[in-house]
Amino acid sequence: MIPARFDYEVADSPEHALELLGSREDAKLIAGGHSLVPAMKLRVARPALLVDIGRLDGLAGVRDAGEQLAIGALTRHAALARDPLLQEHCPIVSHAAGLIGDPQVRHRGTIGGSLAHGDPASDLPAVVLALGAEMVVRGKGGERVVPAADFFRGVFETAVGPGELLTEIRVPKLGTFAGWSYLKFRRRAQDWATVGVVAVLGRDNGDVKSAAVALVNMGGTPLRAAGTEAALVGGSSAADAAAGIADGTQPPSDPGASSEFRAHLARVVGRRAIEEALAR
Ligand code: FAD
Repeated sequence: MIPARFDYEVADSPEHALELLGSREDAKLIAGGHSLVPAMKLRVARPALLVDIGRLDGLAGVRDAGEQLAIGALTRHAALARDPLLQEHCPIVSHAAGLIGDPQVRHRGTIGGSLAHGDPASDLPAVVLALGAEMVVRGKGGERVVPAADFFRGVFETAVGPGELLTEIRVPKLGTFAGWSYLKFRRRAQDWATVGVVAVLGRDNGDVKSAAVALVNMGGTPLRAAGTEAALVGGSSAADAAAGIADGTQPPSDPGASSEFRAHLARVVGRRAIEEALAR
């Protein structure tokens, strides 16, 4: 399919991007283009103006911000996968980024695009949700910081408003007592997750003191599995805690999997992810 006609401008700074974005009602940012262009080809998205932020190198890269790491929104998945700061302090982000799509997707797609797109089948949204990350969103009026728990609003809907730019994602340094895992079930190596489970566990002498378990493709947004988290902190085994992981979720039914199969997968993948996090 061929996209509808559109105009194209290249932003040379975040301020310029915001200015261009505000210049037309139906303007849209493009970063890696790996979610937006397919949507334009299907004519699900028909922006009249594309504002290209893909060359804003100042918004790419990872820096040490004390107890957090600050990830620029333009950092590409391949760069996340090999970043030494992430690998040392928050390796789950590198690991999950390395599981996205195929090499071409990882070399074009950006973390900001993945989060702002708000696809509940994407990997990084559930990872940042489990990590309790903070999103820095810039608009004409200045910057605001949105906790990941408030960021994902619905299918393809996030807290980023039409005239705003996601500039940075702040993730915590996990420390040596944290165990983590991200497992995704997919039919082919390069596919989106049929279901994915993130587990981040804080431990003390082998006891689980804190647990964050987040689900991919089990509802309209990435979800926390609160019952499973409470069970883990209460001393339940991985199998017992994962038994209720799909409770309260509304997994989609599509040609990839029925909602019943997704609930079953979440229990199996969830148990394995928790076991892996406990062992790591
Ligand atoms: P774009 O396509 O450029 O933009 C996506 C949306 O976000 C647009 O609405 C755009 O306006 C907005 N946007 C972009 N950047 C910003 C910003 N900084 N601030 C505000 N709004 C912004 N993803 C997975 O998670 N797992 C997979 O397994 C996976 N497999 C894929 C396989 C294929 C074949 C393809 C084509 C894509 C796949 N993806 C997968 C999606 C991929 O990760 C995308 O790159 C990503 O979701 C979007 O990032 P992008 O930079 O390409 O965003």
